[in-house]
Amino acid sequence: MTPFVAPEELARRVGRSELLRLGANESAFGPSPRAIGAMRDAVTRTSWYGDPESLELRAALAARHRCEAGEIVVASGIDDLMGLIVRAFCAPGDPCVATRGTYPTLFYHLNAFGARAEFAEPDADGGIVPASIVDAVARSGAKLVYVANPDNPSGSFAGQATIADLREALPDDVLLFLDEAYADFVPLDRLPPDAIDPRTIRTRTFSKAYGLAGARIGYALASAEIIAIFQKLRLHFGVNRTAQIGALAALDDDAFLRGVVAEVIRGRDDYHALAARHGLRSLPSSTNFVCIDIGTKQQAEAMVGALLEGGVFVRKPWAPPIDGFIRVTVGTAGERAAFAEHFSEALDRVREKAPT
Ligand SMILES: *Cc1c(COP(=O)(O)O)cnc(C)c1O
Repeated sequence: MTPFVAPEELARRVGRSELLRLGANESAFGPSPRAIGAMRDAVTRTSWYGDPESLELRAALAARHRCEAGEIVVASGIDDLMGLIVRAFCAPGDPCVATRGTYPTLFYHLNAFGARAEFAEPDADGGIVPASIVDAVARSGAKLVYVANPDNPSGSFAGQATIADLREALPDDVLLFLDEAYADFVPLDRLPPDAIDPRTIRTRTFSKAYGLAGARIGYALASAEIIAIFQKLRLHFGVNRTAQIGALAALDDDAFLRGVVAEVIRGRDDYHALAARHGLRSLPSSTNFVCIDIGTKQQAEAMVGALLEGGVFVRKPWAPPIDGFIRVTVGTAGERAAFAEHFSEALDRVREKAPT
């Protein structure tokens, strides 16, 4: 399994200085102006280390999630938290159950640590199947289960009751790692309640809806006991000061966040309509991206290649049953219109080569 090839590298490969970046689920709408202002002011103090406890940010997050600051750890994104979770809870050889096809970064950490993924099979649209997760745990004896909800790359979302039932169906000594990178795109009342469950770790990020991917900042919500373990393992100055200040300001701009989410919903509708115009299926999504059915795995790969030749960066799901899809991030209205043109041209080329 190869880690992501970055858009910068893809641009170099096709000899372009820039690509239309619709492949990494970055926000097309940027950070809140309040966050930008706070970070601009903070830059002059880059000579200072940040607060290693991120206490001000944790206090604000604790108020938001109605928990204690001691039930939150801040890190340089969820990818960083994944490394902490593997180091804290996996030994070499240990299995970790995840749905085949889901966001793969945890697997890189597992592999690097000598642990391994044990896959549960997804449903027809790439979403989770709780019974198959429970079976994989029973079969493998795994003590860690990874669920991205909403999921990337399928875009599917399992509601409160499904997640609660899954938690109850898993043995109490199995830790559930709920990766909620896209939670900000889901109405609050559809998300699992904020109450801390000692058997569950939830992770959130400022990389997606908040538009701060390049700042590298995210957090985990878990019991004080679990957070204390992370405190022993984490890189104490691993979160940069400007990111802490930007995140705090971003939290304070709910109107901006709501605007982003509304525009993302419009963007998803545009992509669903684009797919339909070409007679293609697209998957329902609770995120800032949409998967479009191109046909076979080879056709989807050819489509990613044809788009890249035209200067457009998208990615595709890595496992069946949705490996014949491409995954497109919601761009601005202008980017969506440009994508629609590139998409039609690339589709023609792919269909000429391999008629469906
Ligand atoms: C983007 C993404 C992440 C990475 O988040 P960072 O906070 O930027 O590290 C984690 N999980 C999922 C499911 C994602 O799509």
